[in-house]
Amino acid sequence: MSSIELRGVEKWFGNVQVIKGVDLAIEEGEFVIFVGPSGCGKSTLLRMIAGLEGTSRGQIMVGGRDATAEPPSKRGLAMVFQSYALYPHMSVAENMGFSLKAAGVKPAERQAQVAEAARVLRLEEYLDRRPRDLSGGQRQRVAIGRSIVRDPTAFLFDEPLSNLDAALRVEMRYEIAKLHQTLKSTMIYVTHDQIEAMTLADRIVVLEAGRIAQVGTPKELYEHPANLFVAQFIGSPK
Ligand code: ADP
Ligand code: MG
Repeated sequence: MSSIELRGVEKWFGNVQVIKGVDLAIEEGEFVIFVGPSGCGKSTLLRMIAGLEGTSRGQIMVGGRDATAEPPSKRGLAMVFQSYALYPHMSVAENMGFSLKAAGVKPAERQAQVAEAARVLRLEEYLDRRPRDLSGGQRQRVAIGRSIVRDPTAFLFDEPLSNLDAALRVEMRYEIAKLHQTLKSTMIYVTHDQIEAMTLADRIVVLEAGRIAQVGTPKELYEHPANLFVAQFIGSPK
């Protein structure tokens, strides 16, 4: 069974169509990356999967059920926001446990889940600190930790590294790869960075003006780009 499946998905903003009939089945545990130039619809498609944008046409299946009309909170997916979305006045532990608290999870259970997330992310020594007393990489890990505690069906990332400097970007790319190995969760990751896509993805979805230009492994896309657009975008020699 697919973890997430898109069936004939379309999105219109007024009379402008920005997503044009997207079909895609994402397997459980797969790391899928949406790439494409600015404005091609990556964020819109991800936000539709999360339920933050409505679907004009088609279906979004999550874990085998039709989630098209479900609000974000019912979908069991975690949208990982950038690290600047941390609460500055709360400790790392409070930041990570916040959504559990809001969902009415009891303190003991909350603490256990935060401790487990901190272990996975190697944040155990920083649980009492405020975000301002952390490095950029640690903050980004806390932002991810806030989602892990919910044990989501899938993680959705929208250019999570785009505001980081080059060195930190490389470090976080490695962190996210390791996180995927550890958690074995489905991950959908949006980027316009070809290197990020080629190094992280099990499969890459190349979007061009709201349509899928090609889907394949990094190797398939590199060696057999479907057209010039994909070849140029992926940087293959065709
Ligand atoms: P990407 O993330 O690939 O850069 P987006 O999904 O943000 O692209 O945007 C795709 C297209 O949809 C763009 O032309 C953008 O201007 C348009 N768009 C995005 N959000 C809205 C909105 N809320 N209202 C109208 N147009 C939008
Ligand atoms: Mg975007």
